Amino acid sequence: MIAHSRRKAFNMFNSHYPKSDYPGFLLRSEVQDILDNWEKLVKIDNEDKLAMFIGRRILQVQKVEKHVTLCCDWADRQVQLRLEDVISRLRGIGWGPELDYLQRKDYAPIRKHEQMRAARRLSDRAWQNMRGDMVKCMQQTRQERLEHELRYSLPKRWPDLEFALEELVQHSKAQVYCLGLGDIALSPQIRQIMCAPENEEVNFTNFTALRGCMGQVVEEWVSYVSNDLRGLLTPRQSGGSAAKLTAADTRNTVDPLELATTSFRCLICNHRLYYPGALAHACLRAPLFQRGHDDVYGQFLSKKFKNHGHLLAICFDRLGVSAPSADALKLIELCGMDPKVVTAKEMDALDVRFVRNNEDVMTWRSAMFHQTRPSSIKSWRLATSYEVADAKEHELGIQARKSWLVPRIKNDIRVPTLAARSESLLQSGALDSLEANGVYQVKLQGH
Ligand SMILES: [Zn+2]
Repeated sequence: MIAHSRRKAFNMFNSHYPKSDYPGFLLRSEVQDILDNWEKLVKIDNEDKLAMFIGRRILQVQKVEKHVTLCCDWADRQVQLRLEDVISRLRGIGWGPELDYLQRKDYAPIRKHEQMRAARRLSDRAWQNMRGDMVKCMQQTRQERLEHELRYSLPKRWPDLEFALEELVQHSKAQVYCLGLGDIALSPQIRQIMCAPENEEVNFTNFTALRGCMGQVVEEWVSYVSNDLRGLLTPRQSGGSAAKLTAADTRNTVDPLELATTSFRCLICNHRLYYPGALAHACLRAPLFQRGHDDVYGQFLSKKFKNHGHLLAICFDRLGVSAPSADALKLIELCGMDPKVVTAKEMDALDVRFVRNNEDVMTWRSAMFHQTRPSSIKSWRLATSYEVADAKEHELGIQARKSWLVPRIKNDIRVPTLAARSESLLQSGALDSLEANGVYQVKLQGH
Protein backbone atom coordinates (compact mmCIF):
# COMPACT_ATOMS: atom_id res chain seq x y z
CA MET A 1 0.00 0.00 0.00
CA ILE A 2 2.73 2.40 0.99
CA ALA A 3 4.68 1.59 -2.17
CA HIS A 4 1.52 2.06 -4.22
CA SER A 5 0.68 5.41 -2.58
CA ARG A 6 4.28 6.53 -2.97
CA ARG A 7 4.31 5.70 -6.66
CA LYS A 8 0.98 7.45 -7.07
CA ALA A 9 2.39 10.52 -5.31
CA PHE A 10 5.43 10.47 -7.56
CA ASN A 11 3.13 10.73 -10.56
CA MET A 12 2.81 14.37 -9.56
CA PHE A 13 6.51 15.13 -9.90
CA ASN A 14 8.75 15.44 -12.92
CA SER A 15 11.46 12.81 -12.74
CA HIS A 16 14.93 13.31 -14.10
CA TYR A 17 14.79 9.76 -15.45
CA PRO A 18 11.83 9.88 -17.84
CA LYS A 19 12.49 6.40 -19.31
CA SER A 20 12.83 4.65 -15.99
CA ASP A 21 10.33 3.42 -13.40
CA TYR A 22 12.61 4.68 -10.71
CA PRO A 23 11.66 8.25 -9.83
CA GLY A 24 15.29 9.34 -9.58
CA PHE A 25 15.97 12.90 -8.45
CA LEU A 26 13.29 15.53 -7.95
CA LEU A 27 13.58 19.30 -8.12
CA ARG A 28 13.43 20.65 -4.57
CA SER A 29 11.62 23.93 -5.47
CA GLU A 30 9.00 21.97 -7.45
CA VAL A 31 8.38 19.56 -4.55
CA GLN A 32 8.11 22.45 -2.07
CA ASP A 33 5.65 24.29 -4.32
CA ILE A 34 3.39 21.25 -4.67
CA LEU A 35 3.51 20.52 -0.93
CA ASP A 36 2.56 24.15 -0.13
CA ASN A 37 -0.46 23.94 -2.46
CA TRP A 38 -1.44 20.56 -1.06
CA GLU A 39 -1.34 21.78 2.56
CA LYS A 40 -3.32 24.89 1.65
CA LEU A 41 -6.12 22.81 0.04
CA VAL A 42 -6.14 20.30 2.91
CA LYS A 43 -6.40 23.16 5.43
CA ILE A 44 -9.46 24.68 3.76
CA ASP A 45 -10.86 21.13 3.49
CA ASN A 46 -11.93 21.49 -0.13
CA GLU A 47 -11.86 17.98 -1.60
CA ASP A 48 -13.02 19.02 -5.07
CA LYS A 49 -10.22 21.54 -5.45
CA LEU A 50 -7.71 19.04 -4.02
CA ALA A 51 -8.84 16.36 -6.51
CA MET A 52 -8.66 18.89 -9.32
CA PHE A 53 -5.14 19.92 -8.26
CA ILE A 54 -3.94 16.33 -8.12
CA GLY A 55 -5.50 15.41 -11.47
CA ARG A 56 -4.15 18.48 -13.25
CA ARG A 57 -0.72 17.92 -11.78
CA ILE A 58 -0.61 14.29 -12.95
CA LEU A 59 -1.65 15.33 -16.45
CA GLN A 60 1.08 17.99 -16.54
CA VAL A 61 3.71 15.44 -15.52
CA GLN A 62 2.51 12.97 -18.16
CA LYS A 63 2.72 15.69 -20.83
CA VAL A 64 6.26 16.59 -19.81
CA GLU A 65 7.28 12.92 -19.80
CA LYS A 66 5.86 12.43 -23.27
CA HIS A 67 7.68 15.48 -24.51
CA VAL A 68 10.95 14.41 -22.90
CA THR A 69 10.64 10.96 -24.49
CA LEU A 70 10.11 12.50 -27.90
CA CYS A 71 13.15 14.75 -27.37
CA CYS A 72 15.30 11.81 -26.27
CA ASP A 73 14.23 9.72 -29.27
CA TRP A 74 15.03 12.65 -31.56
CA ALA A 75 18.47 13.08 -29.91
CA ASP A 76 19.13 9.33 -30.23
CA ARG A 77 18.26 9.47 -33.92
CA GLN A 78 20.65 12.41 -34.39
CA VAL A 79 23.45 10.52 -32.65
CA GLN A 80 22.68 7.44 -34.77
CA LEU A 81 22.88 9.52 -37.94
CA ARG A 82 26.15 11.01 -36.71
CA LEU A 83 27.46 7.54 -35.95
CA GLU A 84 26.47 6.27 -39.39
CA ASP A 85 28.24 9.26 -40.92
CA VAL A 86 31.43 8.56 -38.94
CA ILE A 87 31.28 4.86 -39.87
CA SER A 88 30.85 5.74 -43.54
CA ARG A 89 33.84 8.10 -43.46
CA LEU A 90 35.99 5.50 -41.67
CA ARG A 91 35.02 2.84 -44.20
CA GLY A 92 36.01 5.27 -46.93
CA ILE A 93 39.56 5.39 -45.58
CA GLY A 94 39.96 1.61 -45.25
CA TRP A 95 38.82 0.66 -41.75
CA GLY A 96 36.05 -1.70 -42.91
CA PRO A 97 37.28 -4.88 -41.14
CA GLU A 98 37.69 -2.97 -37.88
CA LEU A 99 34.16 -1.54 -38.15
CA ASP A 100 32.75 -5.03 -38.86
CA TYR A 101 34.55 -6.21 -35.72
CA LEU A 102 33.15 -3.29 -33.67
CA GLN A 103 29.61 -3.93 -34.84
CA ARG A 104 29.25 -6.74 -32.33
CA LYS A 105 30.07 -4.19 -29.62
CA ASP A 106 27.54 -1.71 -31.03
CA TYR A 107 30.49 0.55 -31.92
CA ALA A 108 30.99 1.34 -28.23
CA PRO A 109 34.53 2.79 -28.62
CA ILE A 110 33.25 5.24 -31.28
CA ARG A 111 30.14 6.16 -29.31
CA LYS A 112 32.33 7.08 -26.32
CA HIS A 113 33.96 9.98 -28.17
CA GLU A 114 32.80 13.39 -26.95
CA GLN A 115 32.04 14.53 -30.51
CA MET A 116 29.38 11.80 -30.66
CA ARG A 117 27.33 13.49 -27.96
CA ALA A 118 26.27 16.35 -30.22
CA ALA A 119 22.65 15.93 -31.39
CA ARG A 120 23.20 17.30 -34.89
CA ARG A 121 24.54 16.13 -38.22
CA LEU A 122 28.29 15.77 -38.52
CA SER A 123 29.93 18.69 -40.25
CA ASP A 124 33.21 18.37 -42.19
CA ARG A 125 34.85 20.54 -39.56
CA ALA A 126 33.62 18.36 -36.68
CA TRP A 127 34.90 15.30 -38.60
CA GLN A 128 38.33 16.87 -39.02
CA ASN A 129 38.39 17.54 -35.27
CA MET A 130 37.67 13.95 -34.39
CA ARG A 131 39.43 12.18 -37.27
CA GLY A 132 42.80 11.79 -35.47
CA ASP A 133 41.13 10.22 -32.41
CA MET A 134 39.04 7.94 -34.59
CA VAL A 135 42.10 6.69 -36.50
CA LYS A 136 43.86 5.94 -33.18
CA CYS A 137 40.73 4.12 -32.07
CA MET A 138 40.75 2.08 -35.31
CA GLN A 139 44.44 1.23 -34.87
CA GLN A 140 43.73 -0.12 -31.38
CA THR A 141 40.73 -1.99 -32.75
CA ARG A 142 42.88 -3.50 -35.51
CA GLN A 143 45.26 -4.87 -32.88
CA GLU A 144 42.32 -6.23 -30.90
CA ARG A 145 40.74 -7.70 -34.04
CA LEU A 146 43.94 -9.43 -35.15
CA GLU A 147 44.46 -10.88 -31.66
CA HIS A 148 40.86 -12.06 -31.64
CA GLU A 149 41.30 -13.75 -35.02
CA LEU A 150 44.62 -15.25 -33.92
CA ARG A 151 43.02 -16.84 -30.86
CA TYR A 152 40.62 -18.48 -33.29
CA SER A 153 43.17 -19.61 -35.92
CA LEU A 154 46.05 -20.80 -33.64
CA PRO A 155 44.27 -23.94 -32.38
CA LYS A 156 43.47 -24.90 -35.99
CA ARG A 157 47.14 -24.56 -37.02
CA TRP A 158 48.57 -26.24 -33.94
CA PRO A 159 48.33 -29.93 -34.99
CA ASP A 160 50.45 -29.30 -38.12
CA LEU A 161 52.99 -27.31 -36.14
CA GLU A 162 53.22 -29.93 -33.41
CA PHE A 163 53.95 -32.60 -36.00
CA ALA A 164 56.49 -30.42 -37.85
CA LEU A 165 58.32 -29.44 -34.64
CA GLU A 166 59.15 -33.06 -33.92
CA GLU A 167 60.90 -33.21 -37.29
CA LEU A 168 62.59 -29.79 -37.23
CA VAL A 169 64.10 -30.37 -33.79
CA GLN A 170 65.96 -33.37 -35.24
CA HIS A 171 67.62 -31.18 -37.89
CA SER A 172 71.42 -31.22 -37.56
CA LYS A 173 71.56 -27.41 -37.34
CA ALA A 174 69.10 -27.43 -34.44
CA GLN A 175 70.98 -30.17 -32.66
CA VAL A 176 74.23 -28.19 -32.60
CA TYR A 177 72.61 -25.93 -29.99
CA CYS A 178 70.30 -28.63 -28.62
CA LEU A 179 67.29 -26.47 -29.45
CA GLY A 180 64.10 -27.43 -27.65
CA LEU A 181 60.71 -27.61 -29.34
CA GLY A 182 59.84 -24.38 -27.57
CA ASP A 183 62.94 -22.64 -28.96
CA ILE A 184 61.89 -23.51 -32.50
CA ALA A 185 58.20 -22.75 -31.93
CA LEU A 186 59.13 -19.25 -30.71
CA SER A 187 61.42 -18.53 -33.68
CA PRO A 188 60.37 -15.58 -35.87
CA GLN A 189 59.97 -17.90 -38.87
CA ILE A 190 57.48 -20.23 -37.14
CA ARG A 191 55.77 -17.29 -35.45
CA GLN A 192 55.23 -15.64 -38.83
CA ILE A 193 53.51 -18.74 -40.20
CA MET A 194 51.38 -19.32 -37.11
CA CYS A 195 50.35 -15.65 -36.89
CA ALA A 196 49.51 -15.26 -40.60
CA PRO A 197 46.14 -13.58 -41.27
CA GLU A 198 43.15 -15.78 -40.57
CA ASN A 199 42.19 -16.04 -44.25
CA GLU A 200 45.62 -17.42 -45.23
CA GLU A 201 45.84 -21.18 -45.60
CA VAL A 202 48.48 -22.72 -43.32
CA ASN A 203 49.33 -26.40 -43.36
CA PHE A 204 52.11 -28.88 -42.58
CA THR A 205 54.14 -28.01 -45.69
CA ASN A 206 54.45 -24.38 -44.62
CA PHE A 207 56.37 -25.56 -41.56
CA THR A 208 58.42 -28.32 -43.17
CA ALA A 209 59.52 -25.83 -45.86
CA LEU A 210 61.75 -24.45 -43.08
CA ARG A 211 63.99 -27.53 -43.35
CA GLY A 212 65.97 -25.69 -45.99
CA CYS A 213 66.61 -22.63 -43.85
CA MET A 214 67.18 -24.16 -40.42
CA GLY A 215 70.68 -22.65 -40.55
CA GLN A 216 69.13 -19.20 -40.63
CA VAL A 217 66.56 -20.11 -37.96
CA VAL A 218 69.35 -21.22 -35.63
CA GLU A 219 71.53 -18.22 -36.49
CA GLU A 220 68.76 -15.80 -35.60
CA TRP A 221 67.97 -17.75 -32.44
CA VAL A 222 71.62 -17.44 -31.37
CA SER A 223 71.48 -13.72 -32.09
CA TYR A 224 68.47 -12.91 -29.94
CA VAL A 225 69.26 -15.23 -27.04
CA SER A 226 72.80 -13.79 -27.04
CA ASN A 227 71.26 -10.39 -26.43
CA ASP A 228 69.50 -11.79 -23.37
CA LEU A 229 72.79 -13.28 -22.21
CA ARG A 230 74.52 -9.89 -22.52
CA GLY A 231 71.90 -8.58 -20.11
CA LEU A 232 73.25 -11.00 -17.47
CA LEU A 233 76.76 -9.58 -17.83
CA THR A 234 75.94 -5.92 -17.20
CA PRO A 235 75.64 -6.17 -13.37
CA ARG A 236 79.01 -7.93 -13.20
CA GLN A 237 80.72 -5.23 -15.17
CA SER A 238 79.51 -2.46 -12.87
CA GLY A 239 79.44 -4.47 -9.65
CA GLY A 240 83.05 -4.00 -8.52
CA SER A 241 84.03 -7.66 -8.84
CA ALA A 242 87.56 -8.95 -8.56
CA ALA A 243 87.91 -8.33 -12.27
CA LYS A 244 87.40 -4.59 -11.69
CA LEU A 245 85.76 -4.37 -15.05
CA THR A 246 83.48 -1.43 -15.63
CA ALA A 247 81.03 -0.75 -18.41
CA ALA A 248 83.26 2.15 -19.49
CA ASP A 249 86.17 -0.22 -19.98
CA THR A 250 84.48 -2.19 -22.69
CA ARG A 251 81.75 0.10 -23.96
CA ASN A 252 81.81 0.42 -27.73
CA THR A 253 84.95 -1.67 -27.90
CA VAL A 254 84.49 -5.36 -27.16
CA ASP A 255 81.33 -7.44 -27.00
CA PRO A 256 81.23 -8.63 -23.36
CA LEU A 257 80.30 -12.11 -24.58
CA GLU A 258 83.55 -12.29 -26.55
CA LEU A 259 85.79 -11.25 -23.66
CA ALA A 260 88.33 -13.82 -22.48
CA THR A 261 87.25 -13.15 -18.88
CA THR A 262 83.59 -13.99 -19.49
CA SER A 263 82.35 -17.30 -18.17
CA PHE A 264 79.18 -18.71 -16.67
CA ARG A 265 78.13 -21.37 -14.22
CA CYS A 266 75.13 -23.66 -14.50
CA LEU A 267 73.12 -23.28 -11.28
CA ILE A 268 71.73 -26.80 -11.74
CA CYS A 269 74.86 -28.92 -12.28
CA ASN A 270 77.58 -26.36 -11.43
CA HIS A 271 79.21 -26.91 -14.84
CA ARG A 272 81.54 -24.12 -16.04
CA LEU A 273 80.19 -22.69 -19.29
CA TYR A 274 81.46 -20.33 -21.96
CA TYR A 275 79.89 -18.42 -24.79
CA PRO A 276 78.46 -19.65 -27.14
CA GLY A 277 78.62 -23.17 -25.68
CA ALA A 278 76.39 -22.11 -22.77
CA LEU A 279 73.50 -21.74 -25.22
CA ALA A 280 73.61 -25.49 -25.88
CA HIS A 281 73.64 -26.57 -22.23
CA ALA A 282 70.77 -28.96 -21.57
CA CYS A 283 70.09 -27.77 -17.99
CA LEU A 284 69.11 -24.35 -19.35
CA ARG A 285 65.94 -25.67 -20.98
CA ALA A 286 62.72 -25.04 -19.09
CA PRO A 287 59.04 -25.56 -19.93
CA LEU A 288 57.61 -22.58 -21.76
CA PHE A 289 54.79 -22.06 -19.29
CA GLN A 290 57.30 -21.10 -16.61
CA ARG A 291 58.03 -17.91 -18.55
CA GLY A 292 55.70 -14.96 -18.81
CA HIS A 293 54.36 -14.18 -22.28
CA ASP A 294 52.65 -10.92 -23.10
CA ASP A 295 51.59 -11.79 -26.66
CA VAL A 296 48.76 -14.04 -27.85
CA TYR A 297 51.02 -16.56 -29.61
CA GLY A 298 53.36 -16.90 -26.59
CA GLN A 299 50.39 -17.35 -24.26
CA PHE A 300 48.90 -19.96 -26.59
CA LEU A 301 52.16 -21.96 -26.69
CA SER A 302 52.51 -21.64 -22.96
CA LYS A 303 49.08 -23.22 -22.42
CA LYS A 304 49.76 -25.93 -25.01
CA PHE A 305 53.14 -26.72 -23.56
CA LYS A 306 51.79 -27.03 -20.04
CA ASN A 307 50.57 -30.47 -21.01
CA HIS A 308 53.90 -31.41 -22.62
CA GLY A 309 56.75 -31.44 -20.09
CA HIS A 310 59.35 -32.17 -22.78
CA LEU A 311 58.56 -29.08 -24.84
CA LEU A 312 61.29 -26.76 -23.68
CA ALA A 313 62.94 -23.42 -24.43
CA ILE A 314 66.10 -21.75 -23.16
CA CYS A 315 65.87 -20.12 -19.73
CA PHE A 316 68.73 -18.05 -18.32
CA ASP A 317 67.28 -18.06 -14.80
CA ARG A 318 69.36 -21.19 -14.33
CA LEU A 319 72.65 -19.52 -15.29
CA GLY A 320 75.07 -17.58 -13.10
CA VAL A 321 77.94 -15.32 -14.14
CA SER A 322 81.43 -16.24 -12.89
CA ALA A 323 83.75 -13.33 -12.19
CA PRO A 324 87.44 -14.11 -12.81
CA SER A 325 89.73 -13.84 -9.81
CA ALA A 326 92.56 -11.29 -9.62
CA ASP A 327 95.02 -14.19 -9.99
CA ALA A 328 93.28 -15.36 -13.17
CA LEU A 329 93.66 -11.89 -14.64
CA LYS A 330 97.39 -12.00 -13.89
CA LEU A 331 97.69 -15.02 -16.20
CA ILE A 332 96.36 -12.93 -19.07
CA GLU A 333 98.79 -10.16 -18.19
CA LEU A 334 101.58 -12.74 -18.21
CA CYS A 335 100.88 -13.09 -21.94
CA GLY A 336 101.20 -9.33 -22.39
CA MET A 337 97.45 -8.88 -22.92
CA ASP A 338 95.01 -6.48 -21.24
CA PRO A 339 92.31 -8.54 -19.42
CA LYS A 340 89.84 -5.68 -19.69
CA VAL A 341 89.65 -5.90 -23.46
CA VAL A 342 91.28 -9.10 -24.70
CA THR A 343 88.87 -11.52 -26.38
CA ALA A 344 88.81 -15.30 -26.14
CA LYS A 345 89.71 -15.51 -29.83
CA GLU A 346 92.78 -13.31 -29.31
CA MET A 347 93.89 -15.50 -26.41
CA ASP A 348 93.36 -18.63 -28.54
CA ALA A 349 95.45 -17.07 -31.30
CA LEU A 350 98.42 -16.70 -28.94
CA ASP A 351 98.49 -20.52 -28.77
CA VAL A 352 100.23 -20.46 -25.39
CA ARG A 353 100.22 -22.97 -22.51
CA PHE A 354 100.74 -22.34 -18.80
CA VAL A 355 102.75 -24.57 -16.49
CA ARG A 356 101.51 -24.85 -12.92
CA ASN A 357 103.92 -25.87 -10.14
CA ASN A 358 106.16 -27.29 -12.86
CA GLU A 359 103.76 -30.25 -13.06
CA ASP A 360 100.70 -29.49 -15.23
CA VAL A 361 100.46 -27.84 -18.64
CA MET A 362 97.22 -26.02 -19.33
CA THR A 363 95.53 -23.98 -22.01
CA TRP A 364 94.83 -20.39 -20.99
CA ARG A 365 91.18 -21.17 -20.26
CA SER A 366 92.02 -24.16 -18.14
CA ALA A 367 94.60 -22.11 -16.21
CA MET A 368 92.08 -19.34 -15.54
CA PHE A 369 89.59 -21.95 -14.38
CA HIS A 370 92.12 -23.31 -11.86
CA GLN A 371 92.96 -19.82 -10.66
CA THR A 372 89.41 -19.42 -9.43
CA ARG A 373 89.91 -22.33 -7.02
CA PRO A 374 91.60 -21.88 -3.64
CA SER A 375 95.12 -23.28 -3.82
CA SER A 376 98.10 -23.05 -1.51
CA ILE A 377 100.61 -23.39 -4.36
CA LYS A 378 100.36 -20.83 -7.12
CA SER A 379 103.49 -21.11 -9.16
CA TRP A 380 102.77 -20.29 -12.78
CA ARG A 381 104.91 -19.76 -15.85
CA LEU A 382 104.50 -19.79 -19.61
CA ALA A 383 105.37 -23.10 -21.25
CA THR A 384 108.35 -23.31 -23.60
CA SER A 385 107.76 -24.02 -27.29
CA TYR A 386 108.85 -27.63 -26.74
CA GLU A 387 106.43 -28.01 -23.82
CA VAL A 388 103.61 -26.44 -25.90
CA ALA A 389 104.18 -28.88 -28.79
CA ASP A 390 104.24 -31.81 -26.38
CA ALA A 391 101.08 -30.65 -24.58
CA LYS A 392 99.26 -30.38 -27.90
CA GLU A 393 100.00 -34.02 -28.66
CA HIS A 394 98.52 -35.03 -25.33
CA GLU A 395 95.49 -32.83 -25.90
CA LEU A 396 94.87 -34.75 -29.13
CA GLY A 397 94.93 -37.91 -27.05
CA ILE A 398 92.28 -36.48 -24.72
CA GLN A 399 90.14 -35.64 -27.72
CA ALA A 400 90.49 -39.15 -29.04
CA ARG A 401 89.31 -40.56 -25.70
CA LYS A 402 86.37 -38.17 -25.72
CA SER A 403 85.54 -39.20 -29.25
CA TRP A 404 83.27 -42.05 -28.12
CA LEU A 405 80.90 -39.29 -27.08
CA VAL A 406 81.22 -37.54 -30.42
CA PRO A 407 81.76 -40.08 -33.22
CA ARG A 408 82.54 -37.64 -35.97
CA ILE A 409 85.58 -36.24 -34.16
CA LYS A 410 87.47 -39.46 -35.06
CA ASN A 411 87.79 -38.26 -38.62
CA ASP A 412 89.15 -34.90 -37.50
CA ILE A 413 91.78 -36.17 -35.07
CA ARG A 414 94.59 -34.61 -37.10
CA VAL A 415 93.01 -31.18 -37.31
CA PRO A 416 96.09 -29.02 -36.64
CA THR A 417 94.97 -26.16 -34.38
CA LEU A 418 93.11 -26.15 -31.09
CA ALA A 419 90.55 -23.70 -32.46
CA ALA A 420 89.85 -25.98 -35.43
CA ARG A 421 89.61 -29.01 -33.18
CA SER A 422 87.23 -27.17 -30.87
CA GLU A 423 85.21 -26.23 -33.93
CA SER A 424 84.91 -29.92 -34.79
CA LEU A 425 83.54 -30.62 -31.35
CA LEU A 426 81.14 -27.72 -31.71
CA GLN A 427 79.88 -29.12 -35.01
CA SER A 428 79.39 -32.46 -33.36
CA GLY A 429 76.89 -31.36 -30.78
CA ALA A 430 79.16 -30.98 -27.75
CA LEU A 431 79.12 -27.22 -27.75
CA ASP A 432 79.03 -26.90 -23.98
CA SER A 433 81.82 -29.40 -23.28
CA LEU A 434 85.05 -28.13 -21.70
CA GLU A 435 87.03 -29.54 -24.65
CA ALA A 436 84.94 -27.65 -27.20
CA ASN A 437 85.79 -24.52 -25.28
CA GLY A 438 89.53 -25.15 -25.17
CA VAL A 439 89.86 -26.34 -21.55
CA TYR A 440 92.75 -28.85 -21.52
CA GLN A 441 95.17 -29.93 -18.82
CA VAL A 442 97.98 -32.46 -19.35
CA LYS A 443 100.97 -33.60 -17.29
CA LEU A 444 104.30 -31.93 -17.97
CA GLN A 445 106.62 -34.52 -19.47
CA GLY A 446 109.11 -35.92 -16.98
CA HIS A 447 106.55 -35.71 -14.13
ZN1 LIG B 1 73.91 -27.82 -16.01
